[in-house]
Amino acid sequence: MLIGALEAGGTNMTASVGNPQRGVMQRASFPTAAPEATIPQIVEFIRAFDVQALGIGSFGPLDLNPASPTYGCITGTPKKEWQDYPLLPALREALHVPMAIDTATNVSALAEHRLGAGQGTRNMLYLTVGSGIGGGILIDGKPVHGLVHPEPGHMLIVPAEGDPMEGGVCPFHRHCLEGLASGPAMEKRWGLPAKLMMDDHPAWALEAQYLAQMCANMIVTISPEIIVLGGEVMQTHPALYPMIREETLRLLGGYVGSQKITPEGMAAYIVPPKLGMNAGVTGALLLGAQALEAEQPGSV
Ligand code: ZN
Repeated sequence: MLIGALEAGGTNMTASVGNPQRGVMQRASFPTAAPEATIPQIVEFIRAFDVQALGIGSFGPLDLNPASPTYGCITGTPKKEWQDYPLLPALREALHVPMAIDTATNVSALAEHRLGAGQGTRNMLYLTVGSGIGGGILIDGKPVHGLVHPEPGHMLIVPAEGDPMEGGVCPFHRHCLEGLASGPAMEKRWGLPAKLMMDDHPAWALEAQYLAQMCANMIVTISPEIIVLGGEVMQTHPALYPMIREETLRLLGGYVGSQKITPEGMAAYIVPPKLGMNAGVTGALLLGAQALEAEQPGSV
């Protein structure tokens, strides 16, 4: 069974064919130019294989309400050429196979849940900390879609005393998590990128404080069974994990009655992802397989 996967990013679009069990067999990347230039290249690549379904993980914001007439369309992106672009409808018209679409973060979250760090849990939070902060929430194994889609990266955060930066870098919110704790926020505050910061730089303690606020808030709202934190900033400084665990415990003050929310339990509770760079493509393949199963039960 061959499934197609599209990772639609703001800089590059990567099309792959393979399946969730055996992985990727062929892959090609195209720069994200205007849709009229990029989408035909993707269609041509995927058409060369006899794929039975396609899963799409895309930059957003996206309309993910299946009842909406603009379902599967990109909505208010700052990338002008892609504003209101009917990504899912255009690919459907060109490829005529079962398809499903979700945000890139939700697609990676799905992969980590099925095949990575979140295996065996029902409710999970997945968050990546890099040039932005994106999050996917899975409840009963399914990414949450509500009014729109949750954006835990824009959760409002209390600024720490002594934070040398006046406001955050998010153009919408003065003090949201992305504005205070993304890679660009760190760089603006300290005048150098996270990857050049020494291990004893005060940036890390502040970063742990902000990410712990998010963890504590999510623990008391969605009660995830595991929190998976990935992205470049986390990769650059893995010592953040124990710092975030400790600070999260401190913020919760012993209130949450679970063995996982203890100094011993935390090591297996706030964890790095397992699939690394492959989470996006694996999740898109899983999404494609789900779309096939939904239209042709028993085929996967
Ligand atoms: Zn924001």
